[in-house]
Amino acid sequence: MSRYFDEQETISREKRERSQGEALRLMAEQGCRKSSFFRKTLDGLSLEPAKLASVKELEKLPVITREALIDLQKAEPPFGGLADPEAQIDRIFVSPGPVYEPHLSESDPLWARAYTAAGLGPHDVVLNAFSHHLVAAGLTFHGGLRRIGATVVPSGTSGAQIQVQLIRDLRVTAYTGTPSFLMAIIRKAEEEGYAFRKDFSLRKACFAAEPLEASLRERFENEYGIDTYQMYGATEVGDVAYECSEKRGWHLCEEVLVEIVDPATGRNVPPGALGHVVVTRFNPLFFLFRFGTGDLSRLIEEPCSCGRTSYRLDGIFGRIGDAVKVRGLFVAPSQLKELQKKHPGIRFQLLIARTAHEDHLTVRFAGEAGSDFEEKFCGDFREICTVRIDHMERISPDDLKEGDPLILDRRNWR
Ligand SMILES: [Zn+2]
Repeated sequence: MSRYFDEQETISREKRERSQGEALRLMAEQGCRKSSFFRKTLDGLSLEPAKLASVKELEKLPVITREALIDLQKAEPPFGGLADPEAQIDRIFVSPGPVYEPHLSESDPLWARAYTAAGLGPHDVVLNAFSHHLVAAGLTFHGGLRRIGATVVPSGTSGAQIQVQLIRDLRVTAYTGTPSFLMAIIRKAEEEGYAFRKDFSLRKACFAAEPLEASLRERFENEYGIDTYQMYGATEVGDVAYECSEKRGWHLCEEVLVEIVDPATGRNVPPGALGHVVVTRFNPLFFLFRFGTGDLSRLIEEPCSCGRTSYRLDGIFGRIGDAVKVRGLFVAPSQLKELQKKHPGIRFQLLIARTAHEDHLTVRFAGEAGSDFEEKFCGDFREICTVRIDHMERISPDDLKEGDPLILDRRNWR
């Protein structure tokens, strides 16, 4: 079995940029003919669809959030004028809001790249424990697994006891679903007297829809011998990124164009900087350009040793509303938690002020700090948050209690 889903995953970046530009232009031209909403958007901005062939042009279009999509569809049911009214639609999924998603043809390799990268194939029997009811998850993950030849057990959200029974009786080799549900299944099996690792053959798990905490991943891998993979997508745009066996960032799928943008301006930020994950899926049916996922991430530019040439997403750092911007760069609470792990004996808090029209970042800290602590902390901070600290201030432990906010934004913008 090939390590890659197709040769597209290893083409040069220049070639990918060209073919994605071409796909974008094609979608813009089709969209202009078929989607009343998209035509209005282009007219309003005096943009020509034929020129929409690069990120530079694309970023002139507004970002459409989930909330905006709900409003659009309410105003013009069912698809908000984004879909081709004459298209033969395969399926219509419904997600809370509601958002109606006319689907993506069954020939789309949704999730198949992710499962290939996780090493799944025709030899696998996979328990698909995603919901199959209304939402896109169950059926689209099913499609991806079938595409790579795996046998699927569509167990959906059946209770943990039934899932244990299926894993045992059908000799299931892999799981796809949320990490928390897999842990619940393992606990159930243990309650019933099984030794999960010894009695069952489940050796791989591909997760989505929920963050995978590092401590949970470690338990799955070390205690239960389950090789775990993360997949990332959104119901409105399908699969977006996936982990390879290097497990250092998530490769972007070939069918989407991903931008990392400043939420205030909608413009792309440089690689390595945090920003809002905005996705355009090349789609001949549903002309949703620049869907704002609400998630915060950054791009990894360095090539991956697995041989795939795509850029990678450096995980999800939280939702855009939770982060704060310092000198134009985002700092997310999840980054600070990462720092906390590196300096366990220390309690700290960020204080952001603004003097002479410039942001000033102070880190207040308390705890067991050695003589080289400040230097080390500043270095780690710069590496993890990509922002420079202006001032370190040691305070009494009484002034910084457990549960105090990690970030104090004292800037006054009026
Ligand atoms: Zn890789």
